[in-house]
Amino acid sequence: ERKELEALKGKESKTLDGKHVELAGNIGTPKDIEGLIKNDAEGVGLYRTEFLYMHRNDFPSEEEQFEAYKAVLEAMNPKPIVIRTLDIGGDKELSYLQMDKEMNPFLGYRAIRLCLDRKDIFKTQLRALLRASVYGNLRIMFPMISSLEELLAAKEVLEEVKRELDEENISYSKNIEVGMMIEVPSAAIISDVLAKHVDFFSIGTNDLIQYTTAVDRMNEKIHYLYNQFNPAVLRLIKMVIDNGHKEGKWVGMCGEAAGDKRMIPILLGMGLDEFSMSPISILPARKLISSLKYEDMKKLADDILKLGTAKEIEEYIKKTFA
Ligand code: PEP
Ligand code: MG
Repeated sequence: ERKELEALKGKESKTLDGKHVELAGNIGTPKDIEGLIKNDAEGVGLYRTEFLYMHRNDFPSEEEQFEAYKAVLEAMNPKPIVIRTLDIGGDKELSYLQMDKEMNPFLGYRAIRLCLDRKDIFKTQLRALLRASVYGNLRIMFPMISSLEELLAAKEVLEEVKRELDEENISYSKNIEVGMMIEVPSAAIISDVLAKHVDFFSIGTNDLIQYTTAVDRMNEKIHYLYNQFNPAVLRLIKMVIDNGHKEGKWVGMCGEAAGDKRMIPILLGMGLDEFSMSPISILPARKLISSLKYEDMKKLADDILKLGTAKEIEEYIKKTFA
């Protein structure tokens, strides 16, 4: 088993009939680079930068952030590294940032909403990212986008920071891909429009499930309702992939579902281009994908999208892969 996985290192991730996908890793700090390399990650699909801001007494400086981003970009170069801008709020708080008590923090002042309100915090991070971009293959991703206005506003701040760096003669890479997470249903629903303004989408199922089904992802009592096989969630995922592809943009997934061996066949059949997961899941995913036929998985995905309950979908998967 382990040997079999070892043998897959350095191999491409592709199906029996030659359909290629990218298997990337989710990380939280530069310390995770070791795990990426050990598990042969083809890149980073989600670098959760909020950990840089947590468990300390003040915001990390531009310099400190620059060093962290540079470390990951340089170590993995030329592999692509998707760095997500600050996703704080919701359940993640900072002791040094005074936040009002909210009735529904997950529906409140968090992530891109906070960054667009606190441009000082946002611009410091974007400066650090742009400066680090010359050391590797950087992709910048905005979290929690729920409208076109928010996406355009975030991109405008990025442009503003680029102009400032230009004025200071500080260099940055000229071909940084800019994308957004799809983790709010309103974004999934207008993904045809959003796709015209990004280089890629990455679907965040952890939040997309909770917002689509109105099920708090932390609430144990209703955990039985929190299910990635929910047909409404699967239809949204399919819609996002199709809308991205219509505009020629690649579509990835960085929520937990991307590394789930029961979900991978469905996602592959839907045409997902990139799967980003915990590094230890990468080689098992490569093994699974190399045993599947894309043409068959397309049919499987079509069949599954006609089913009305998560239970039927789970049983269909169980029966097919028994
Ligand atoms: C997600 O929502 O699926 C996601 C990847 O982001 P996080 O888990 O950090 O909220
Ligand atoms: Mg999320």
